[in-house]
Amino acid sequence: MVIVGGGIAGLAAGLRLKDRGFTPLVLEAAHRVGGRMTTDRVNGYAIDTGVTLLGNRYRAMRALVRRLALPAAPVPFSLAIRDDGGCRRYRAQRALDVLLGSGLSVPAKWAAIRVLAGILLSGRGMLHGNSERVMALDRETVAEYFARLGRGGQELLAKVFEPGLRAALGGALAGSSRFVLMQVIWNTLGAGFWNIDGGVDRLPEALASELPIERETRVREVRVASSGVEVDAQSATSVRTVRARAAILAIPGDRIPSIFPTAPHWIREPASRTIFSKLSSAHVALGRPPNCPHAGYGFAAGAEDGVGALELEHLRAPGRCPERKGMVSVYFVDTPRFRCLEADDESLREQAVRVVGRTFPEVAGSVEFVHLIRWPTATARFPKGRLSEVVQLRRQLARWEAPVDLAGDWLDGVASESAIQTGQQAADRIAARLGA
Ligand SMILES: Cc1cc2nc3c(=O)[nH]c(=O)nc-3n(C[C@H](O)[C@H](O)[C@H](O)COP(=O)(O)OP(=O)(O)OC[C@H]3O[C@@H](n4cnc5c(N)ncnc54)[C@H](O)[C@@H]3O)c2cc1C
Repeated sequence: MVIVGGGIAGLAAGLRLKDRGFTPLVLEAAHRVGGRMTTDRVNGYAIDTGVTLLGNRYRAMRALVRRLALPAAPVPFSLAIRDDGGCRRYRAQRALDVLLGSGLSVPAKWAAIRVLAGILLSGRGMLHGNSERVMALDRETVAEYFARLGRGGQELLAKVFEPGLRAALGGALAGSSRFVLMQVIWNTLGAGFWNIDGGVDRLPEALASELPIERETRVREVRVASSGVEVDAQSATSVRTVRARAAILAIPGDRIPSIFPTAPHWIREPASRTIFSKLSSAHVALGRPPNCPHAGYGFAAGAEDGVGALELEHLRAPGRCPERKGMVSVYFVDTPRFRCLEADDESLREQAVRVVGRTFPEVAGSVEFVHLIRWPTATARFPKGRLSEVVQLRRQLARWEAPVDLAGDWLDGVASESAIQTGQQAADRIAARLGA
């Protein structure tokens, strides 16, 4: 079995295939596994490059972490939102903070009750991997939904969800399907958080230690052949064709048409319509942490253009910063006037240091360094109707006879847990097709 892509989806698929008695080989283009779930280690800081927040309802990920005996712990999380009137705080798992806190009108609190009721009524469909049960939520955008909730709904969106989830949804919250907003709330803020000690990359690295992997090996083409599949793979020293019984393509959807050119139209078309948000982040290492008890920080008004959110790394997860030091990560989203990928390094660094200094004046003069990361492929976008399109694709894959399947977050939702679930589902479908 060949798995193209050693991100968390491909690795989860590989382990599931191994459990079912197959011999998987993971081909990964980069020098390390993990894709968007990796960690850079700089001067004693562990900087998670993509995935940072793990929700308590990430069932498949938690099971893998337990199985691989990785150290992990629950983390208290609260989100501060600053606006003209000051700072409001919302703790994870405490819906009452929205309902009883100051700064929101009574109609906005009523709207919050209706949002919560909508989530509760959707039940298990809100869990990652179950999204086919909530396709009805995919018929309106977040903006349309909150407009339907009236003036209070629009206030709730502007004062809580837009500043709180701006970065998580790549700056595209208003145009996203209502399903995405509800899935993110239910699985993370609504459930609380946990994290892996010392860096999220410990999970993909531990999975990789269980599987045969070839790093720095880029797959150029996958073809269906009489005996299974042929996979053209290129490394620094060779170009070769790997023959296998089947392949799982665990790569971003927009790349499928070029790698699998003979894919049927019902794969090519939805895959080519995959859109990802763009994100940059500047991680500001500080000689002393700010006097702020909140791991997340958003801005309802007055944020600089492009600033999505801040995360306080010394509070977000264990083992990210040296003792008594701190780190504030500034997440930049793409806006019409601020292109987060094109901004040059120096201006991103300066902007990040300015935002951190203005938000936490007490850390002035304590910046040790700023580490930059850019993601042209950040989080999958789910505009209205997109979930229905990928659910249809998954159903067709389940009926397909060919020895090729697909995995990746773009098939289910915006999170790493989605990626894992799609990897395991792809492995199960392929195993069923091969009669195992
Ligand atoms: C900045 C940022 C913050 C995020 N925050 C969170 C968060 O807090 N919580 C959360 O749950 N999720 C978060 N996410 C989303 C999460 O990172 C992704 O959903 C998840 O990691 C996707 O995994 P994947 O395996 O589907 O894709 P990827 O991680 O993209 O893996 C695909 C792999 O395929 C490889 N590849 C591509 N083409 C080829 C080829 N031709 N040949 C061989 N290999 C190839 C790539 O190198 C890569 O390793 C965040 C993402 C970003 C970018």
